[in-house]
Amino acid sequence: MSGDSSAGVDRAAEIAAGLSEVRTRIDRACAAADRPAGSVQLIVVTKTFPASDVRILHDLGCSEVAENKDQEARAKAAELADTAPALRWHMIGQVQRNKARSVAAWADVVESVDRLPLAEALSAGAVAANRSIEILLQVSLDPGEAAGRGGVRPADVPDLAARVAALPGLALRGVMGVAPFPGDPDAAFGLLESVGRRLETVAPGADRISAGMSGDLEHAIRHGATHVRIGGAILGKRAAVG
Ligand SMILES: *Cc1c(COP(=O)(O)O)cnc(C)c1O
Repeated sequence: MSGDSSAGVDRAAEIAAGLSEVRTRIDRACAAADRPAGSVQLIVVTKTFPASDVRILHDLGCSEVAENKDQEARAKAAELADTAPALRWHMIGQVQRNKARSVAAWADVVESVDRLPLAEALSAGAVAANRSIEILLQVSLDPGEAAGRGGVRPADVPDLAARVAALPGLALRGVMGVAPFPGDPDAAFGLLESVGRRLETVAPGADRISAGMSGDLEHAIRHGATHVRIGGAILGKRAAVG
């Protein structure tokens, strides 16, 4: 056996252990919140990790993976094209409008839509590629008006939602949020939950709440998260970027 393949076995065991720990945390959090087991979907955040890790995740039965950079994601999705359609690729990072067409070619779900021009560009890209893309509106959970991290203000969600819902090639499916750190995750996820429930009343089918990362998934599940986005707790420490 080459050194390479035994390293591959070790890595697969490492990822399997991380997955199992995170699944246990999710199950416990569901029980603690009186929610049915299996009511929270796991999305594994693979940004900065190699395509070989994504393949291991696929082989371990994971079907949802998330990336935050167009170029990196496109390359990985191409490398894993043979697995299609088993893997669903989520975009969770900021998207520049001039990248929207490229994102529309590989992303099955874009969770970070926070303004109409971006949604319009994704719509055009989806139509051109003859695809349908699921959309979550990223909601700013920063208290006050502190901007910068992206996200539509809670008060502006209904208007943006109505406009996004009217665009061809897109299917509005819910909301996404990141709890400010440092900050109170329960307050942030409570806000996201109320925004999501309100959205669902005006956009039937837009019932997803994507919330919670490695450090705060229990708080998110307490507040109705239907999806959690977990990277580090499964794949290990990311190399510092930028
Ligand atoms: C990186 C990232 C995650 C995952 O964070 P971890 O702490 O590694 O679990 C989740 N959501 C978004 C938007 C991210 O950028």
